[in-house]
Amino acid sequence: MGEIRDLYQEVILDHNKHPRNFHKMENADSTLDGYNPLCGDHYTFYLKFDGDSIGEVSFEGSGCAISKASASIMSTVLKGKSREEAETMFELFTGIVTGKIDPAEHIAELGKLAAFAGVSEFPVRVKCATLPWHTMHGALQGKNDNISTE
Ligand code: ZN
Repeated sequence: MGEIRDLYQEVILDHNKHPRNFHKMENADSTLDGYNPLCGDHYTFYLKFDGDSIGEVSFEGSGCAISKASASIMSTVLKGKSREEAETMFELFTGIVTGKIDPAEHIAELGKLAAFAGVSEFPVRVKCATLPWHTMHGALQGKNDNISTE
């Protein structure tokens, strides 16, 4: 398990250092801010739809390594997903980081998201990991108010 943990650590460090889709998006269909006052994570998320699917996701802002890596990986995972698939990923991701779902049973669907399974051992970090997902969830629900974890 130690080696797997190191591998997951690498994934998070890599996405923190080189976040994917880290830019403002012009003509986004949905723009929503997510804020985690507990840690100071603050990002703006942009969504562009392609029919019923998510065409593009991007974000900008700042925060800790966990939140930034989570936002970066989320942006790569959601591209091309339907709204329904995105909601399923949201449920699954929040389930594993809060320890309610066993990641071992969902390895294939999780892919790189499995890197965040260890977060469930650090309750103060859970909000950092879930902030991007809660914000995206809000955007998919058509919310206009900014999302706060508090
Ligand atoms: Zn944080």
